[in-house]
Amino acid sequence: MSDLRRIAIAGSTGSIGTQALEVIATAPQQFEVVGLGSGSSVEKLAEQARQWRPRVVAIADASLAAKLEASVPPGTEVRAGPGALASMAEMADVVLNGVVGFAGLDVTVAALMAGRRLALANKESLVAGAPVVQAARATSGAELIPVDSEHCAIHQCLGRSASESARLILTASGGPFRGRRLEQLRAVTVAEALAHPTWKMGPKITVDSSTLMNKGLEVIEAHELFGHSYDKIDVVVHPQSIVHSMVEFSDGATLAQLSNPDMRLPIGYALGYPARMQSSYGALGWAGSFSLDFEPPDLETFRCLALAYAAGRAGHSAPACLNAANEIAVGAFLDGRLSWGGIADVVADVLEHHVPTRLSSVQDVLAADAEARSYARLAVDRRERAA
Ligand code: MG
Repeated sequence: MSDLRRIAIAGSTGSIGTQALEVIATAPQQFEVVGLGSGSSVEKLAEQARQWRPRVVAIADASLAAKLEASVPPGTEVRAGPGALASMAEMADVVLNGVVGFAGLDVTVAALMAGRRLALANKESLVAGAPVVQAARATSGAELIPVDSEHCAIHQCLGRSASESARLILTASGGPFRGRRLEQLRAVTVAEALAHPTWKMGPKITVDSSTLMNKGLEVIEAHELFGHSYDKIDVVVHPQSIVHSMVEFSDGATLAQLSNPDMRLPIGYALGYPARMQSSYGALGWAGSFSLDFEPPDLETFRCLALAYAAGRAGHSAPACLNAANEIAVGAFLDGRLSWGGIADVVADVLEHHVPTRLSSVQDVLAADAEARSYARLAVDRRERAA
């Protein structure tokens, strides 16, 4: 990599993207923003382009190309349509994938195939497309540094001792509904699900945190990133969100990474690695007293976590199916068409109906995703009619 690291951000207008730009603004001598891309937030993207002057701006929704073209500084190249965000990989040293959901698959694959560093905040692409993403990871020069705070913590704890690690312990805040039973949760509102106690994030991941599906996806993500079997990946509920995850080594020693919950720390870590950023995000104050609590997850209430372990163990297309069903169910919940408890019902339905098949190409992943989505839509419709 050159001294000035060239950064492309896919999903620059979202929660991860905007925080990444904040981090980059603190180290202009270290980073150059060469590409910014968004799905459809054209006004915010144009505003970022005027501030950051990237070489390329990309928008996935091709119908917004003219509008974008008209509002970016002269000389800025506008790319539009499917594949526009992924096309930025070629000109960057580091591609930050902050796209929301399965739509981030092509950015993940393109960054790795181009032999770049992928700073991955889009766990869905790795979960759903694992066989294809793993193959792309073998490209010379390709490197995957997780931005997800738990996996970033594990990456930090593993250091060079990866081979002596026995067990990964992912921490979960437990979300807004920790300690409640399923019968109390059936009818919770979207606003309640979006009120995360410790992390400030986008709506999709916040709902996923309330169901523990986010943790389930992260269990699969950890399996794919670090190669541990599912029996060696545990989840522990830790309501303060200060211990971001832990690694237990073969001799029984456990290392943890601690900081206040602030995504700018893992974002900066992934952009700057192996160097540490000079702005301290999430540093703990040790002058006051505070405690750290840990408890096992309630798998009966938060069934999505158990479903994710099952899909991970089934392998092949099952995680893609889990993820697709969840995206449809969460979308229906956010639209007021499905109850909170219905999210796990729909995912369970779709998984039950699914026969895992081998995935050997992006097309295979897209097909598995599409099939699970259409079945999930039917499952949502059935429930909506019955309600
Ligand atoms: Mg996370």
